[in-house]
Amino acid sequence: MPKRIKLGRTKGWRMPTNAKKVDRSTRYGNPYGPKQIGICVTSWGYPAPILPLREPPSLERALDLYTAHAHTQLEHDPDFFEPLRGYDLGCWCKLCERHKHGKPFLENCPDCAPCHADIVGIIANFERGDLAVALERRNIDEASK
Ligand SMILES: [Zn+2]
Ligand SMILES: [Zn+2]
Repeated sequence: MPKRIKLGRTKGWRMPTNAKKVDRSTRYGNPYGPKQIGICVTSWGYPAPILPLREPPSLERALDLYTAHAHTQLEHDPDFFEPLRGYDLGCWCKLCERHKHGKPFLENCPDCAPCHADIVGIIANFERGDLAVALERRNIDEASK
């Protein structure tokens, strides 16, 4: 299973050959930020009205918004994440000392910064049928609480 890596800025740092970037310079970046107070609703016209979000801004919320965004992308283009399958994915978010050479997407680590690359990696490497089943199961679990 590929993993999440941290992009480097230091001189001499090179992107590993088996890795792809998923930061904001790519179409896989997270358009949402941890301080965001609202979202633009482009389908409502121009200029796009802003819909304020009711929960206080947080990184976790930005990741939830990304998950929803990712699934909208999949609906438009089922192959959207396919070019990333099997690759390590690089973002700027912090990795802990133990994971400095990469963190498996599914591993939850309290010391690594939460990052949308984990979500991207999970979606890109799931078989599509399994992903649908996993999401359905999650919805069912939530509903039955
Ligand atoms: Zn870690
Ligand atoms: Zn990140």
